[in-house]
Amino acid sequence: MPPLHFQTFNSDKVFIDNNMETTLVLLKPSCVQRQLIGEIVHRFERRGLRIAGMKMMQLDEAILREHYAHLVDRPFFPALAASMMASPIVAMAISGVEAVSVVRAMTGYTNGRVADPGTIRGDYSMSNQQNIVHASDSIENAAIELARFFRPEEIFEYESATLGFIYATNER
Ligand code: UDP
Ligand code: MG
Repeated sequence: MPPLHFQTFNSDKVFIDNNMETTLVLLKPSCVQRQLIGEIVHRFERRGLRIAGMKMMQLDEAILREHYAHLVDRPFFPALAASMMASPIVAMAISGVEAVSVVRAMTGYTNGRVADPGTIRGDYSMSNQQNIVHASDSIENAAIELARFFRPEEIFEYESATLGFIYATNER
C-alpha cells in the first residue's frame, strides 16, 4: 500500500466544493462467504461515507486480468483470480470528502496479518489474499475502476440528509 496523502483544508475558506470523491470498493468472496457484507457496509456508513452504488456481480477471468493487470505475471495470479471468482462479489461506489484516501486507510495493509487492528483487513482477515476488500489506491485509479464495474446510471448523485452534520461547511 503506497503512502496516503491527505489534503489539509484552509479553514479561512468559506466553501470548498471540489473535494468530494467517489471510490470503488469490492467486497471479495472472502467477505461474502464469511457473511461479513453487512458488517463491512456498516463501517463505511458509520464513518459518514455515502453509498453511491452497490451491486452483486460474478467476476470472470477477463475482468480480473484487467483489474489486476499489475499482477497478471505474478505466480500467485491464478490463485488470486480463482479466489475472486469463488463466489459473487459486491461492488460498491463510495463517496465523501477525500473518499479515496479515507477508504484506503480504513482498508489497511494488503496482508491481513500485518494490517493494523481497527482497519477492515486488520480486524477481519489473516491472509495476504483472502483479505475481505479491494479499495482503489488513487483518484485516477478510482475513476478507471468505477467505470470498469459500474455503468454511469448505476452511480447515484443524491445528497446525504446528514451532510451538514458530517462536514463543516468549509470542508465539502
Ligand atoms: N495478493 C496476493 N498475493 C500477494 C499480493 C497480493 O494474493 O502476494 C492479492 C491480494 O488479494 C491483494 C490483491 O492481490 O488484495 C491486489 O494486490 P495489491 O498489491 O494491489 O494490494 P491491495 O491494493 O489490494 O492492498
Ligand atoms: Mg491494489
